[in-house]
Amino acid sequence: MTPSTETNETLFARAQRVIPGGVNSPVRAFRAVGGTPRFVQRAQGPYFWDAEGRRYIDYIGSWGPMILGHGHPVVLQAVQAAALDGFSFGAPTEREIELAEAILRLVPSMDMVRLVSSGTEAAMSGIRLARGATGRHKLIKFEGCYHGHADALLVKAGSGLATFGNPTSAGVPPEVVKHTVVLEYNNIDMLEQAFATHGNELACLVIEPIAGNMNFVRASVPFMQRCRELCTQYGALLVFDEVMTGCRVALGSAQSVYARELPGFEPDMTIMGKVIGGGMPLAAFGAKRAVMQHLAPLGPVYQAGTLSGNPVATACGLATLNEISKPGFFDDLSARTRRLVSGLTGAAKAAGVPFCGDAEGGMFGFFLLPELPQNYGQVMQSDSPRFNRLFHGMLDRGIYFAPALYEAGFVSAAHTDDDIAETVAAASEVFKTL
Ligand SMILES: *Cc1c(COP(=O)(O)O)cnc(C)c1O
Repeated sequence: MTPSTETNETLFARAQRVIPGGVNSPVRAFRAVGGTPRFVQRAQGPYFWDAEGRRYIDYIGSWGPMILGHGHPVVLQAVQAAALDGFSFGAPTEREIELAEAILRLVPSMDMVRLVSSGTEAAMSGIRLARGATGRHKLIKFEGCYHGHADALLVKAGSGLATFGNPTSAGVPPEVVKHTVVLEYNNIDMLEQAFATHGNELACLVIEPIAGNMNFVRASVPFMQRCRELCTQYGALLVFDEVMTGCRVALGSAQSVYARELPGFEPDMTIMGKVIGGGMPLAAFGAKRAVMQHLAPLGPVYQAGTLSGNPVATACGLATLNEISKPGFFDDLSARTRRLVSGLTGAAKAAGVPFCGDAEGGMFGFFLLPELPQNYGQVMQSDSPRFNRLFHGMLDRGIYFAPALYEAGFVSAAHTDDDIAETVAAASEVFKTL
């Protein structure tokens, strides 16, 4: 790759003339932390290099998909071979069946899946299916959970308890979100109250089981148990949005983590994305056969996609799932991720900075707070100016964490012990300056 003659700064100026904010997804613009976004030129293993040839240890991994690190040779080979056979056909292929079979083996709560191209599309279509299958309109979502940017899911809590939400985005008419009930995460009382009021009209409850879109907040086991019981009691579907956690926190996804504590635990529907595409545009939603039969062409719930089940994306996803299914893969990844979090925690403690972190599989989060938050309101009490100094201090030392305090981080199988040690050493310096 020839080095760019541009700097991050000149690229950002150029980008802003032709792309709103200079980026194709808002968090990339560094608005929360300030400064100039790094324009990536190439990536390999756990690293990427910016336009100025500067190397960074990458802890966002494309926001989750790059669980094997960048440019894994087996995945690269599968993608190259698939590309030679054709980019897209608009007709079915054997590889789509293979990928569907592979996903169902890993997440057996589903009997069938439909492949789509983004997590947004999967969540939007999953909600439509839940509504079509139950014949009901209302849904519950939780403050701080993100399910892509479909209109009905762009909702924040209104004032007061258990209210219908307000749109979080201009361009979403209030009528479109009037069936969406927004509750506080991990709040069992509020959950029970919402079911008592709306239970018989609820199509589904959609939840990030480990919420990575408010950094890293676990649904408590008693809370999850109550979600399951109430959905069963009222005939609403329990929908796990595992776009981020799927094949990332464990091979069997977050639902397998809850099943350790709650034997036999299963959601009714699962939304997948990110890791199952290995870095290509690919996502999926699935459920039991009785629910999936409502989907076109079998049933009346319409859903379609020109690029759905794309042959290059499915090759990338299949090769990725194959690699992460190897014995010991998640044990190693989990150990390395825990080592990162405990290293950061130790460095903060030595510097007297309030800090706490958590991790599951290859996903982690940390807060400049004395203890782990349980909901969005508590996450937002994190010290934002201090986080920004931490972010930039690390970035200056070649460590790329998520550029916002409400985002999770990701370790890949390509991160070495040396990478972790380098990160912790940088953090030790930076914490002393906070
Ligand atoms: C990333 C994400 C989405 C949206 O997926 P896109 O592919 O960005 O559309 C939905 N839900 C969760 C939990 C996510 O993390």
